[in-house]
Amino acid sequence: MELSALNANQTDYRKLVSEHGSPLLVLDGDAIRKQYLSLQQALPGVALHYALKPLPHDAVVAILKDLNGYFDLATNGEVDLVRNVGVDPERCIHSHPIKRDSDIRYALDYGCSTFVVDNIVELEKFVAYKDVTQLLLRVSFRNPDTKIDLSKKFGCRQEEAIGLLCKAKELGLNVIGLSFHVGSQAVNPVRHSNAVAACNNIIREAAQFGVTLTTLDIGGGFPVSYDGNPIDIVEYCAPIREQLALLPEHIRVLAEPGRYICAPAVTAVSSVMGIAQRGEQTWYYLDDGVYGSYSGQIYDHMVYPLSFPYASGEPQLSVLSGPTCDSIDVIREDIMLPPLAVGEIVIGHVMGAYTWASATEFNFFRKANFVVVNGPCEINAVVAA
Ligand SMILES: *Cc1c(COP(=O)(O)O)cnc(C)c1O
Repeated sequence: MELSALNANQTDYRKLVSEHGSPLLVLDGDAIRKQYLSLQQALPGVALHYALKPLPHDAVVAILKDLNGYFDLATNGEVDLVRNVGVDPERCIHSHPIKRDSDIRYALDYGCSTFVVDNIVELEKFVAYKDVTQLLLRVSFRNPDTKIDLSKKFGCRQEEAIGLLCKAKELGLNVIGLSFHVGSQAVNPVRHSNAVAACNNIIREAAQFGVTLTTLDIGGGFPVSYDGNPIDIVEYCAPIREQLALLPEHIRVLAEPGRYICAPAVTAVSSVMGIAQRGEQTWYYLDDGVYGSYSGQIYDHMVYPLSFPYASGEPQLSVLSGPTCDSIDVIREDIMLPPLAVGEIVIGHVMGAYTWASATEFNFFRKANFVVVNGPCEINAVVAA
């Protein structure tokens, strides 16, 4: 793992810990801006709706609002978050395929009126709101080689799409387009490009049934690097751009990137609480672990690059453990590390997506506090609990 590039960044983590405590998550607003703008460059003309799920943090929302961004919401809590930041509801879509009637009303009350459906039961829920809503039909494209196959749980089968579109028309519903999600951290863009091609066929077939679709939402899944080898997103998106160019001209294209926007923007800072020699291995017990910011190692199946900016000396066989009393709470085993002292700082990189969002306070170890650097115009250097 090549960490020298990551170490080159000059943040004084000791100072941050002395001011704000440990563990911390350092959110760099400039990294959020850079990610959003580079995906925009890779997908020109596509309206990028930040999916809040991987990092539902008000500073991220405020930064993207300053960039005139769009947002993808899935729950009432996410509605509250964007509303509190003052986001224009017309810049939001609600993409959870399965909702209670009360969830629909909650989003409508805010002013968000575009929703996603994928089955007949869900379509029928919108009959009551047919004059005030627009719908996207989510289609499933299975992706068995990703660990996070988001088309297993949601999306109608491609063969069902025309039937559902006709049924929606019969019910008087306003279905404006299709959506899909090919799976998170989709390392191969052929998933997206094949799905765009298949949706193009559905859009053209629907027209023959008198259903005019105007929108295609290509979801999230855009990957980031966890191993230090950079991914060129403009090159990654080339086959996707190629397929998008074949869509009928009137089609408006949206995307719902989550991980790509936020993952590289957060650095986790934790400290050694204690040290024990157990057999061959030196165990370091950190104040953050897999029940906390490193929860993505369990739920998101990612392994984060680590660095040890203040350590030096002969490497020894080591274990990095989280703080809780559970034995599953181990961040890394059998790694060679220079000796660390009690209180010494350990850094986790690329920790913005699906980390803090799924952290727990198991054993009453508090979730890490955020420090925001290069924040949005109004909120600078906020520390949010
Ligand atoms: C999780 C999710 C996203 C974000 O996916 P990433 O892989 O993080 O880009 C977008 N849309 C929907 C519907 C999701 O569930």
